[in-house]
Amino acid sequence: MITFEQVSVRYHDSATPALSGVDLTVPEGELCLLVGPSGSGKSTLLGTVSGLVPHFTGGVLHGRVTVGGRDTREHRPRELADLVGTVGQDPLAHFVTDTVEDELAYGMESLGLAPEVMRRRVEETLDLLGLAELRDRALTSLSGGQQQRVAIGSVLTVHPRVLVLDEPTSALDPGAAEEVLAVLQRLVHDLGTTVLLAEHRLERVVQYADQVLLLPAPGEPPVLGEPAEVMAH
Ligand code: ADP
Ligand code: ADP
Repeated sequence: MITFEQVSVRYHDSATPALSGVDLTVPEGELCLLVGPSGSGKSTLLGTVSGLVPHFTGGVLHGRVTVGGRDTREHRPRELADLVGTVGQDPLAHFVTDTVEDELAYGMESLGLAPEVMRRRVEETLDLLGLAELRDRALTSLSGGQQQRVAIGSVLTVHPRVLVLDEPTSALDPGAAEEVLAVLQRLVHDLGTTVLLAEHRLERVVQYADQVLLLPAPGEPPVLGEPAEVMAH
């Protein structure tokens, strides 16, 4: 579902590449965990999947990244939006409406779906993420874990086959982080969504991963393997 072939990214103002020598295949319905210290290129790697790199960040991409068979360099992020959903660290910064239900509906508005299809998808997503009781709540009144579940839900109503998450639990307490990670695990199992997840607190997530890509310090090659192998590294 996602492939990287000898991918490297260099930003114009930097002598060292932000990412180099990445080879990775994430099969449909698997969860790949991306770990590494701050500045190791995790966000850059996720950006090559959503198309932000190279289209919006000015990084120069070598090699090839494909999602669902599409070369991300040949498509602008908007053209990939039905295929790849993206969730960041700070849901409040990205919310565009005021309530849970409106936020879940918003992402679908540009898809041209019939109103009853949109309504059904909102209902399905409220149930899937355990948000049904919160549907009329103001987004600002929710806990961090609830806000992050809404952020994931607003992407899921579009029915993306790939979900890319950039440290979605980093602003959360351990209980809320568990909430979000349990949701991700359920998505992979129930919906077959392919997930690429960057996290630095890996002890919480490694149990859910099918494979782990470790981006070490700059200059060292990436390490790819089963969770136990990479953890031993
Ligand atoms: P991580 O997500 O692991 O913290 P990043 O992908 O954000 O790593 O950053 C990797 C490297 O690329 C860092 O040295 C960072 O400063 C640099 N970088 C990231 N984005 C840009 C950008 N838009 N322009 C220039 N340099 C960038
Ligand atoms: P549509 O909304 O296009 O009429 P459905 O709502 O009937 O389609 O869902 C189509 C398929 O997508 C079903 O198998 C359903 O289980 C699955 N599905 C439901 N919700 C989601 C979601 N949030 N993300 C991905 N797939 C989903």
